[in-house]
Amino acid sequence: MKLLIVANWKMNPQTLREAEQLFDLVKKGVKNIKKAEVVICSPFVFLSNIPARLRVAEGKSGRQHLKSNIKLGAQDVFREKEGAYTGEISSLMLKDVGCQYVIVGHSERRGYFGETNEMINKKLKAVLEEKLNPILCIGETQQQRDKGETDQILKKQIKTALKKVSSSKFSKITIAYEPIWAIGTGEPCNVEEAQKIGLLIRKIISGIYNRSVSKNLRILYGGSVNSKNAAGYIKEAGLQGLLVGGASLKAKEFVKIVKTVI
Ligand code: PEP
Repeated sequence: MKLLIVANWKMNPQTLREAEQLFDLVKKGVKNIKKAEVVICSPFVFLSNIPARLRVAEGKSGRQHLKSNIKLGAQDVFREKEGAYTGEISSLMLKDVGCQYVIVGHSERRGYFGETNEMINKKLKAVLEEKLNPILCIGETQQQRDKGETDQILKKQIKTALKKVSSSKFSKITIAYEPIWAIGTGEPCNVEEAQKIGLLIRKIISGIYNRSVSKNLRILYGGSVNSKNAAGYIKEAGLQGLLVGGASLKAKEFVKIVKTVI
């Protein structure tokens, strides 16, 4: 199973030129890496420009494809296919510009935009409908953690998000454990705790589907990841990848993260 290292640029950078520069530097830095897939989740507005930097003409047919170990991802999506939904973006639109991954249920979407587990379930199904790969984010707040509610919160988030998702479709999903108290705080979750949560997620998935489905799941950790702490989540906690926010905006640091985990 290949590692998955996801860059979540959030609402950054501020110009297309900067986005292209950042992308080009990361692309160059990870060029020869085979053991990990790198996904760049850029803001929607840059998504259609970035694939041009990956495209390779394929034979005489002129058909284009994305030939790189870098894949494109979106940070969010809308639940419907098309229609009068001002400001929204569909899975089909994302697919059309070359996206293969879509982050669903990021805690900032849940917190600032009121996304519920039920809404996340609909988005997840919309992404699967287009045969794209959802990255489902789950995680507890500091308050929930202090009250000892972490396990039940994660269970509820997973169960509701996966309602009516078949085991064959589930194979396209990655789950990212992103404790809210660790996101952007400089206080990452420790490796032992991340390992424990990884096992809990596998147990929950095993309960919903079965052991073999659960075994094939990629579980990521996200929350204040940097080049110093990254390797622990993979090599000690046994997780299959990382979701990187702040540190993904510095090309050198992000490439270093990728290189330390492979
Ligand atoms: C995130 O937003 O998904 C994230 C992990 O952010 P950061 O790495 O900045 O904590």
